[in-house]
Amino acid sequence: MHGIRRPDAPDNPVPTDIPVKLPSHARFSTVCLHAGQTPDPATGAIITPIYQTSTYVQDALGQHKGFEYGRTQNPTRSAVEANLAAIEGGQAGFAFASGMAAIGAIASMLKSGDHVVVSDNTYGGTFRLFDKVLSRYALTFSYVDTSDVNAVAAALTPQTRLLFVETPTNPLMKLTDLKAVAEVAHAQQVRLVVDNTFASPYIQQPIAFGADLVVHSTTKYLNGHSDSVGGIVVATREDDIEWLKFVQNAAGAILSPFDSWLVLRGTKTLPIRMMQHNANGLALAQFLAAHPKVRRVHYPGLPDHPQHALATRQMRGFGGMLAFELGSLEQARTLLNGVRLHALAESLGGVESLISHPASMTHASVPADTRARLGITDGLVRISVGIEDIEDLKEDLAQALDRV
Ligand SMILES: *Cc1c(COP(=O)(O)O)cnc(C)c1O
Repeated sequence: MHGIRRPDAPDNPVPTDIPVKLPSHARFSTVCLHAGQTPDPATGAIITPIYQTSTYVQDALGQHKGFEYGRTQNPTRSAVEANLAAIEGGQAGFAFASGMAAIGAIASMLKSGDHVVVSDNTYGGTFRLFDKVLSRYALTFSYVDTSDVNAVAAALTPQTRLLFVETPTNPLMKLTDLKAVAEVAHAQQVRLVVDNTFASPYIQQPIAFGADLVVHSTTKYLNGHSDSVGGIVVATREDDIEWLKFVQNAAGAILSPFDSWLVLRGTKTLPIRMMQHNANGLALAQFLAAHPKVRRVHYPGLPDHPQHALATRQMRGFGGMLAFELGSLEQARTLLNGVRLHALAESLGGVESLISHPASMTHASVPADTRARLGITDGLVRISVGIEDIEDLKEDLAQALDRV
């Protein structure tokens, strides 16, 4: 597979406040590697250093180099913010201590009385933040099936400020047509926010489809190596950028210099990792779909996925996330306890394959009746397919399925 252009290239090169010498037509892999990073001005070090400092010495009273205090500015963090803004085709990025802190920063754009429309099958932590914390501040949330554009349009009210969408959803891999919901939202002056964690910007770039804000847990594909927790918000509108810059400093949930450096290292290999996640994801989905013990596989790359056509239009490859139905908790337990190479763990998007049980792990905080309505059954198993040799992954699942 070859690199794609950033959606705004070539007429609108990397935003001017980003100190890179990239050609204006730089393609996706080149942007991932280089955007936001120049050789260190002090030494020429090719890799942006970890500026592990809390403060900066000033030349004279009122004279400094643009850096005053570590919460407010840090060069390693600025580099990863510029890098991710360019990768998503946005104007500015803001890095936070976790994906949840990034979502919290977006939520700080709301005022009491405001209303938010949210994908009904949203990440469990996002649901918990909205339902258990933010609902105490006179904010209201409607959870709708955003794969149904008419349901989205019907849920918008004059108080709606944000439409918060995840596509594909976790763990059932339902898709939302981003272009269609962007049009519906913008017709009502509602901002479209897309949590792009599950896909990664290699697979889909929501801003190109009309999203106003993109948020990621960098913990997942962007860092990619299961060794850092973080979040990023990429913004496109000047007023949002001003507010996010202000609130990042005011509330202070910043990404550390070391974690910023890890994410910068991660995005250099994002394209080649995602190619392998795509290839392994599809191969494993096909293997499971053909297995007699597996009742159903949820993966947008399979022709029987109800939104396969949309996936082909909106995504570049179908990613490394899949879920499948075994029929009962007992069968799921046998499989989960029988795998050797797949690690039984929450989280996703790392180079190693992880297997999990959504009903009791990632979605345990979702009420049982909601889980049942969404189709998150006790027999459902989720895999974050890593980049190991595909034959080893298939063999591991085959031997575990034999016990089921
Ligand atoms: C993990 C995740 C989050 C939360 O990110 P943290 O880094 O764990 O705080 C948000 N959205 C999605 C889709 C996620 O997978």
